[in-house]
Amino acid sequence: MKKLALHWQILIGMVLGIGFGVLMTQIEWGQEEVLLKTIKETSQVIHKEVNGELVAVNDITQEKKVYITRAKHFISRWIEPFGTIFVNLLKLIAVPLILASLIKGISDLKDIAKFRNMGIRTIVIYIATTVIAITVGLGLVNLFAPGEGISKETIAKLSSTYEGNSNIAGKLATAAQTKDAGPLQALVDMVPSNAVEAMANNSLMLQVIFFAIFLGISMLLIGEKKAKALKKFFDSLNDVVLKMVDLIMLFAPYAVFALLANVVVSADDPEVLLALLYYALTVVAGLLIMIVIYCLIFALYVKKSPFWFLQKIAPAQLLAFSTSSSAATLPVTMERVEEHMGVEKEVSSFVLPVGATINMDGTSLYQAVAAVFVCQALGIPLDLSAQLTIVLTALLASIGSAAVPGAGMVMLVIVLESIDFPSELLPVALALIFAVDRPLDMLRTTVNVTGDATVASIVAKSLGKFGKPHVENWDDNLDDVTS
Ligand code: ASP
Repeated sequence: MKKLALHWQILIGMVLGIGFGVLMTQIEWGQEEVLLKTIKETSQVIHKEVNGELVAVNDITQEKKVYITRAKHFISRWIEPFGTIFVNLLKLIAVPLILASLIKGISDLKDIAKFRNMGIRTIVIYIATTVIAITVGLGLVNLFAPGEGISKETIAKLSSTYEGNSNIAGKLATAAQTKDAGPLQALVDMVPSNAVEAMANNSLMLQVIFFAIFLGISMLLIGEKKAKALKKFFDSLNDVVLKMVDLIMLFAPYAVFALLANVVVSADDPEVLLALLYYALTVVAGLLIMIVIYCLIFALYVKKSPFWFLQKIAPAQLLAFSTSSSAATLPVTMERVEEHMGVEKEVSSFVLPVGATINMDGTSLYQAVAAVFVCQALGIPLDLSAQLTIVLTALLASIGSAAVPGAGMVMLVIVLESIDFPSELLPVALALIFAVDRPLDMLRTTVNVTGDATVASIVAKSLGKFGKPHVENWDDNLDDVTS
């Protein structure tokens, strides 16, 4: 019997996960509330007289009970951990994979000039696709003006529900740290002072890439003979890690079930989601346009069917959607682009890890739409120069966004600050879009990953390195993987 292709298995897992989540929120048992924890909250500010002056002191501490529905409680305890294990496994192999495949890719190049050529092309095309994405986003948000239809009551409701949310406070604090850094900080952050430390931290992916490129180039420079032992080691490591991707992917259909069931039971009140529907649809329309643009570029430049492209890359897209993290999806994106599409390792091993960290077309499009949307909703006028500033800062912000869930919202704060958005209104701005952030994050991550795969194909084609698919480590079922 012919086994079901991986993307169908994942899709079935996703649909069942959503169905299970919906069922749990609908049944009476799922709707019951259970006590999650009791927290101590210092809520009121009182004033005391100290040396004749009134001083504010926070000393009223109350106990607050936090309740959640039984559906959420059950899924977060018994189902979602399987999704977390899967994401952890993917993250676990990201660093060894980048290291092994990038070092192998560069040392196979045989010539540093080729690497420089590929590097420049990659960065230029990444910037170009991101500027296109931001322009699409700005065009749509100005055309549909989703923020103008938002009533004062909705704004008040959203702000009162989310303004004090600890998630929003966390995002504002992270953004403040990023903003305080100097103009060259991004460059400084790219160079590790300790290779082991860089490899020990998944958020330091660019440092690992820097180290791998440095090592690969030095291997080229000492010549093939002297570098032979090290090259063999990394070649072998690369094969082993690709096998690990296959093994992890066997678990994917079950993991996406867990991840999506959790997304459904954690979703906000449908009424709130409906109020933001017009805004969400504007982002979704922009993201769909980006997918069409990628398909067109692929058909015209790579001269292959866009349906073939979408079919080959589908498992990576579905994982990006389920995990909301381009970094976690990277091992799968690399495998699909290399083995299933035929992009040569020299190109994919550089273009994809760099893309996962700096190329985020979906995120930049979302940031452009969200920035203009909150200004429209709060009645803050934006002239042409402010919109041009958005193009520039959304480009930089998407480069600076981490490839993890919700990162795009942190950098949105930087975009808003660049257009002189009143800082006291920042919590309100985030509160306005918070409710729909997770579904939009899932979709924009899918676009981010598709954009990386498109650019890898363009660069490969331009360098004559788009070969034939060679599925060595097939990953659809256990018999093939272990045979
Ligand atoms: N979650 C996105 C990614 O990993 C980043 C973001 O837009 O929040 O690509």
